[in-house]
Amino acid sequence: MNTVEQHKQEKHPLDVIDDVYDYADEELSFEEIEARAGGGEWERLKWAGMYAQKQEGYFMIRTKVPGGKLTPEQAEVIGEVTDDLAVAPEEYGGEEQNELWGDAYLDITTRQDIQKHWIRVEDVPEMWDRYDEVGLTTVQGCGDSARNVLGCPAAGLDDHECFNAQPVIEAVSDFFTENREYANLPRKFKITITGCAHDCAQSQINDVGLVPAKKEIDGEYLYGFHARVGGGLSDGPRMSSELDAFIRPEDAVEFCRAVAQTFKELGDRNNRGVCRMRYLVEQLGPEKFEEAVRDRCTIDLPTGGQNLTVGYQGDHVGVHEQKQDGLNYVGFNVIAGRMGGDEFAEAARAAETYGTEDASVRLATDQNFLITHIPDEHVDDLLAEPFAQEYSPDPGPFSRGAVGCTGNEFCNYAIIETKKRTKRWARELDDRINVPDDIESIRMHMSGCSASCAQPQIADIGFRGETVKLEDEDGDDIVEGMDFGLGGSLGADNEFLDWVESAVPADSVIPALEQLFEAYSEDRDDDEQFYEWCRGVDNAELRSIMQGADAPVARGVAHGD
Ligand code: SF4
Repeated sequence: MNTVEQHKQEKHPLDVIDDVYDYADEELSFEEIEARAGGGEWERLKWAGMYAQKQEGYFMIRTKVPGGKLTPEQAEVIGEVTDDLAVAPEEYGGEEQNELWGDAYLDITTRQDIQKHWIRVEDVPEMWDRYDEVGLTTVQGCGDSARNVLGCPAAGLDDHECFNAQPVIEAVSDFFTENREYANLPRKFKITITGCAHDCAQSQINDVGLVPAKKEIDGEYLYGFHARVGGGLSDGPRMSSELDAFIRPEDAVEFCRAVAQTFKELGDRNNRGVCRMRYLVEQLGPEKFEEAVRDRCTIDLPTGGQNLTVGYQGDHVGVHEQKQDGLNYVGFNVIAGRMGGDEFAEAARAAETYGTEDASVRLATDQNFLITHIPDEHVDDLLAEPFAQEYSPDPGPFSRGAVGCTGNEFCNYAIIETKKRTKRWARELDDRINVPDDIESIRMHMSGCSASCAQPQIADIGFRGETVKLEDEDGDDIVEGMDFGLGGSLGADNEFLDWVESAVPADSVIPALEQLFEAYSEDRDDDEQFYEWCRGVDNAELRSIMQGADAPVARGVAHGD
């Protein structure tokens, strides 16, 4: 049994939540917490949504937001709690801790969560109390259990949707949250559910993805879901496989429970490197996996019907008419997902001021956010708000598609800095590169290591952090760099990108991109997207184009080689 399994056997990981109140009361240090618990608490704290920061004594806390949907009141509390409790201490620079975002900011993640940093254990109960008042939770934000359930941030608003799946998302999330029977799975378990044909909820890269379908049953056409299973990124990326089953919305909780049961019983608990559900699906094959799920499901699931998914069609940035007459949602662009707590609270208050009583703040899987239910006559007022200038709904294409993980500022695994670099590069690239007018977004995703939190494999341009050893006349120099991938996308033409070049020094990347986009603009067919063009050019040619840059793409020696 591996160490993490041992820690989960010694004490049920959900029991850590009660203990946090004692640790907070006594203001215990991290060592004292470990000593009190007899070891392994660092792992179990993840079930409370708490992840030890690399700065000792501080935690990252992850707030789950099912389907990304927040009331304005909830969003305001998140912003205010960030400003009050997630504050960089003086010993780490205080207001100057981060030169772009100051000392109190939050991160919108690719799983529609909110992450805050610099939280001390003694402040957690206050945060939870304030969360309880508005129905928010951090429970199972991390750890080997069902994580935040994803969905389309425009659920209930968009013409592309077949039906509104938000109630199903909430039912599935409620079932798994604090459910002791399913809180200790072999590894994390990621679910996404959408009723929209565009599938921006990323069913192809989740453990379980429910996507819209239609089937005639007893002479009646019913809307429900088809299921995809076993998708994921990181090392060993895999596109999910479709099962031959039709799931009525009212059966979705039971179906997801049966999949979790299958994973719980048959998943590998020994080797954490290969114990994600996609390895089980791969090992059994989708047909046998489906049999295993059906054996454990209390409902007799009909075979599949008509698939209604068309595929991923971009993002939600900009002003969009809702299907409800006279109402709009506005998608704001948050480069790398990071913004000040005060700014998020300001956006929440604007939703309340300008929106109808149904107004909401919605988090998207591309780290942006939406404000919904804005009547036509208030759109201009909303767009004139100060936060809307920084988080523009009309950004340049690189800013619009920029995604960044936490990086070495806080993450123990990171090899490079990512958040600041993503924002600076996106802005610089928007200034320096003229992309063809019909291209609204260039998806540029930067992960600080191979763990893929920024989802580089599905981007037009993907980076994963590396250190690079440069050799020159002054001797050896170690600099930050990245593996450089091109040509990924989800949707109808889904494909993971190709890692075209390894260990590129960070300073060489922008000149290399300038060369690439010059070639793309000259060479593309009508309407050809950047990722499509990259797929059509072989890797040796892509490398040669990049090396033609004024500052050539230097080849380095990858860390660990
Ligand atoms: Fe950390 Fe790596 Fe995830 Fe980035 S991708 S947040 S560096 S684990």
